[in-house]
Amino acid sequence: MRLLLVEDHVPLADELLAGLGRQGYAVDWLADGRDAAYQGATEPYDLIILDLGLPGKPGLEVLREWRAAGLATPVLILTARGSWAERIDGLKAGADDYLTKPFHPEELQLRIQALLRRAHGMANQPCLEAAGLQLDEARQCVSQRGREIDLTAAEFRLLRYFMLHPGQILSKSHLAEHLYDGESERDSNVIEVHVNHLRRKLGREVIETRRGQGYRFHGVAG
Ligand code: CA
Repeated sequence: MRLLLVEDHVPLADELLAGLGRQGYAVDWLADGRDAAYQGATEPYDLIILDLGLPGKPGLEVLREWRAAGLATPVLILTARGSWAERIDGLKAGADDYLTKPFHPEELQLRIQALLRRAHGMANQPCLEAAGLQLDEARQCVSQRGREIDLTAAEFRLLRYFMLHPGQILSKSHLAEHLYDGESERDSNVIEVHVNHLRRKLGREVIETRRGQGYRFHGVAG
Protein backbone atom coordinates (compact mmCIF):
# COMPACT_ATOMS: atom_id res chain seq x y z
CA MET A 1 0.00 0.00 0.00
CA ARG A 2 1.33 3.43 -0.90
CA LEU A 3 0.66 6.35 1.42
CA LEU A 4 1.19 10.10 1.21
CA LEU A 5 2.36 11.76 4.41
CA VAL A 6 1.89 15.55 4.51
CA GLU A 7 3.59 16.95 7.62
CA ASP A 8 5.85 19.97 7.95
CA HIS A 9 7.25 19.15 11.39
CA VAL A 10 10.41 17.30 10.34
CA PRO A 11 11.11 15.29 13.54
CA LEU A 12 7.55 13.94 13.53
CA ALA A 13 7.68 13.22 9.80
CA ASP A 14 10.96 11.33 10.24
CA GLU A 15 9.52 9.24 13.04
CA LEU A 16 6.36 8.45 11.08
CA LEU A 17 8.29 7.59 7.92
CA ALA A 18 10.47 5.11 9.82
CA GLY A 19 7.50 3.52 11.59
CA LEU A 20 5.30 3.26 8.49
CA GLY A 21 8.23 1.80 6.55
CA ARG A 22 8.63 -0.93 9.16
CA GLN A 23 4.92 -1.68 8.80
CA GLY A 24 5.43 -2.34 5.11
CA TYR A 25 3.95 0.86 3.69
CA ALA A 26 5.57 2.70 0.81
CA VAL A 27 5.40 6.36 1.84
CA ASP A 28 5.94 9.62 -0.04
CA TRP A 29 6.53 12.61 2.21
CA LEU A 30 5.66 16.26 1.51
CA ALA A 31 5.86 19.27 3.84
CA ASP A 32 4.14 21.94 1.69
CA GLY A 33 0.37 22.27 1.20
CA ARG A 34 0.61 23.33 -2.45
CA ASP A 35 2.79 20.36 -3.35
CA ALA A 36 0.40 18.08 -1.47
CA ALA A 37 -2.68 19.46 -3.27
CA TYR A 38 -1.09 18.60 -6.62
CA GLN A 39 0.63 15.32 -5.84
CA GLY A 40 -2.24 13.89 -3.79
CA ALA A 41 -4.55 14.39 -6.77
CA THR A 42 -2.19 12.96 -9.38
CA GLU A 43 -0.42 9.96 -7.78
CA PRO A 44 -2.36 6.77 -6.95
CA TYR A 45 -2.26 6.75 -3.14
CA ASP A 46 -4.12 4.20 -1.06
CA LEU A 47 -4.36 6.54 1.92
CA ILE A 48 -3.27 10.07 2.87
CA ILE A 49 -2.13 11.35 6.28
CA LEU A 50 -2.63 15.11 6.32
CA ASP A 51 -1.46 17.64 8.90
CA LEU A 52 -3.74 20.69 8.94
CA GLY A 53 -1.21 23.41 9.84
CA LEU A 54 0.96 23.53 6.71
CA PRO A 55 3.07 26.10 4.88
CA GLY A 56 1.98 26.94 1.33
CA LYS A 57 -1.65 26.06 1.73
CA PRO A 58 -3.65 25.06 4.84
CA GLY A 59 -4.44 21.35 5.11
CA LEU A 60 -8.19 22.03 5.26
CA GLU A 61 -8.06 23.84 1.93
CA VAL A 62 -6.01 21.02 0.41
CA LEU A 63 -8.60 18.49 1.59
CA ARG A 64 -11.52 20.55 0.26
CA GLU A 65 -9.82 20.80 -3.14
CA TRP A 66 -9.26 17.04 -3.31
CA ARG A 67 -12.87 16.24 -2.41
CA ALA A 68 -14.24 18.89 -4.82
CA ALA A 69 -12.20 17.22 -7.57
CA GLY A 70 -13.75 13.84 -6.69
CA LEU A 71 -10.74 12.27 -4.99
CA ALA A 72 -12.10 9.39 -2.88
CA THR A 73 -8.82 8.30 -1.21
CA PRO A 74 -9.17 7.82 2.58
CA VAL A 75 -7.71 10.83 4.42
CA LEU A 76 -6.65 10.81 8.07
CA ILE A 77 -6.02 14.29 9.46
CA LEU A 78 -3.57 15.22 12.21
CA THR A 79 -4.93 17.98 14.44
CA ALA A 80 -3.68 20.04 17.37
CA ARG A 81 -4.61 18.92 20.85
CA GLY A 82 -7.78 20.47 22.21
CA SER A 83 -8.81 21.94 18.90
CA TRP A 84 -12.29 20.47 18.51
CA ALA A 85 -13.18 23.17 15.94
CA GLU A 86 -10.33 21.93 13.72
CA ARG A 87 -11.52 18.34 13.98
CA ILE A 88 -15.10 19.29 13.11
CA ASP A 89 -13.95 21.41 10.14
CA GLY A 90 -11.75 18.53 9.00
CA LEU A 91 -14.55 15.98 9.15
CA LYS A 92 -16.88 18.40 7.33
CA ALA A 93 -14.25 18.89 4.63
CA GLY A 94 -14.23 15.14 3.98
CA ALA A 95 -11.69 13.59 6.35
CA ASP A 96 -12.34 9.92 7.12
CA ASP A 97 -10.67 9.93 10.53
CA TYR A 98 -8.44 12.10 12.70
CA LEU A 99 -5.70 11.80 15.28
CA THR A 100 -4.87 14.44 17.87
CA LYS A 101 -1.20 15.28 18.42
CA PRO A 102 0.63 13.88 20.25
CA PHE A 103 -0.46 10.31 19.52
CA HIS A 104 0.92 6.85 20.05
CA PRO A 105 2.39 5.31 16.86
CA GLU A 106 0.38 2.14 17.43
CA GLU A 107 -2.87 4.12 17.35
CA LEU A 108 -1.93 5.54 13.95
CA GLN A 109 -1.04 2.05 12.73
CA LEU A 110 -4.40 0.59 13.84
CA ARG A 111 -6.39 3.48 12.38
CA ILE A 112 -4.59 3.12 9.04
CA GLN A 113 -5.33 -0.61 8.94
CA ALA A 114 -9.00 0.01 9.78
CA LEU A 115 -9.36 2.79 7.17
CA LEU A 116 -7.80 0.62 4.46
CA ARG A 117 -10.07 -2.34 5.28
CA ARG A 118 -13.12 -0.07 5.33
CA ALA A 119 -12.13 1.46 1.97
CA HIS A 120 -12.11 -2.08 0.53
CA GLY A 121 -15.44 -3.18 2.00
CA MET A 122 -13.95 -5.24 4.84
CA ALA A 123 -14.99 -3.04 7.75
CA ASN A 124 -16.38 -5.82 9.93
CA GLN A 125 -13.16 -7.82 10.09
CA PRO A 126 -10.85 -7.48 13.07
CA CYS A 127 -7.95 -8.62 10.89
CA LEU A 128 -7.36 -8.94 7.18
CA GLU A 129 -8.97 -12.13 5.86
CA ALA A 130 -9.55 -13.32 2.35
CA ALA A 131 -10.66 -16.79 1.33
CA GLY A 132 -8.95 -18.99 3.87
CA LEU A 133 -5.97 -16.76 4.64
CA GLN A 134 -5.58 -14.57 7.72
CA LEU A 135 -2.94 -11.89 7.63
CA ASP A 136 -1.38 -10.77 10.89
CA GLU A 137 -0.31 -7.23 10.03
CA ALA A 138 1.47 -6.63 13.33
CA ARG A 139 3.65 -9.74 13.02
CA GLN A 140 3.70 -9.74 9.19
CA CYS A 141 2.84 -13.41 8.81
CA VAL A 142 -0.09 -15.32 7.34
CA SER A 143 -2.14 -18.29 8.54
CA GLN A 144 -3.63 -20.86 6.20
CA ARG A 145 -5.90 -23.55 7.67
CA GLY A 146 -4.38 -23.00 11.11
CA ARG A 147 -0.82 -23.24 9.79
CA GLU A 148 1.35 -20.16 10.26
CA ILE A 149 3.59 -19.21 7.35
CA ASP A 150 6.47 -16.73 7.57
CA LEU A 151 6.74 -14.02 4.95
CA THR A 152 9.59 -11.77 3.88
CA ALA A 153 8.89 -8.02 4.05
CA ALA A 154 8.36 -7.89 0.27
CA GLU A 155 6.03 -10.90 0.29
CA PHE A 156 4.02 -9.38 3.14
CA ARG A 157 3.55 -6.10 1.24
CA LEU A 158 2.45 -7.88 -1.90
CA LEU A 159 0.12 -10.32 -0.14
CA ARG A 160 -1.52 -7.50 1.84
CA TYR A 161 -2.22 -5.66 -1.42
CA PHE A 162 -3.67 -8.81 -3.01
CA MET A 163 -5.81 -9.56 0.05
CA LEU A 164 -7.31 -6.06 -0.04
CA HIS A 165 -8.18 -6.58 -3.73
CA PRO A 166 -9.51 -10.15 -4.01
CA GLY A 167 -10.79 -11.17 -7.42
CA GLN A 168 -9.44 -8.07 -9.16
CA ILE A 169 -7.07 -8.21 -12.11
CA LEU A 170 -3.94 -6.29 -11.14
CA SER A 171 -1.25 -5.54 -13.71
CA LYS A 172 2.43 -5.65 -12.76
CA SER A 173 2.76 -1.90 -13.31
CA HIS A 174 -0.29 -1.23 -11.12
CA LEU A 175 1.21 -3.37 -8.36
CA ALA A 176 4.56 -1.63 -8.69
CA GLU A 177 2.86 1.80 -8.39
CA HIS A 178 1.18 0.75 -5.14
CA LEU A 179 4.06 -1.16 -3.55
CA TYR A 180 6.91 1.29 -4.08
CA ASP A 181 7.21 4.95 -3.16
CA GLY A 182 7.85 7.65 -5.75
CA GLU A 183 11.61 7.58 -5.21
CA SER A 184 12.12 3.84 -5.68
CA GLU A 185 13.08 2.20 -8.90
CA ARG A 186 10.10 0.15 -10.07
CA ASP A 187 11.05 -3.15 -11.59
CA SER A 188 8.00 -5.22 -12.43
CA ASN A 189 10.15 -8.36 -12.85
CA VAL A 190 10.72 -8.23 -9.10
CA ILE A 191 6.94 -8.48 -8.64
CA GLU A 192 6.96 -11.68 -10.66
CA VAL A 193 9.64 -13.16 -8.40
CA HIS A 194 7.64 -12.33 -5.26
CA VAL A 195 4.43 -13.73 -6.80
CA ASN A 196 6.25 -17.00 -7.41
CA HIS A 197 7.53 -17.09 -3.84
CA LEU A 198 3.99 -16.55 -2.51
CA ARG A 199 2.70 -19.36 -4.73
CA ARG A 200 5.36 -21.70 -3.39
CA LYS A 201 4.33 -20.89 0.18
CA LEU A 202 0.55 -20.70 -0.22
CA GLY A 203 -0.20 -22.90 -3.23
CA ARG A 204 -0.20 -22.14 -6.95
CA GLU A 205 -3.98 -21.66 -7.15
CA VAL A 206 -3.87 -18.64 -4.82
CA ILE A 207 -2.63 -16.24 -7.51
CA GLU A 208 -3.75 -16.73 -11.09
CA THR A 209 -1.78 -15.29 -14.03
CA ARG A 210 -3.96 -13.59 -16.62
CA ARG A 211 -1.94 -13.52 -19.81
CA GLY A 212 -1.18 -9.99 -20.93
CA GLN A 213 -3.29 -8.54 -18.10
CA GLY A 214 -1.63 -9.33 -14.79
CA TYR A 215 -2.54 -11.32 -11.71
CA ARG A 216 -5.70 -12.23 -9.88
CA PHE A 217 -5.72 -13.23 -6.23
CA HIS A 218 -8.19 -15.94 -5.29
CA GLY A 219 -7.20 -17.19 -1.88
CA VAL A 220 -8.02 -20.74 -0.86
CA ALA A 221 -11.46 -21.72 0.34
CA GLY A 222 -11.72 -23.69 3.61
CA1 CA B 1 2.13 21.58 11.02
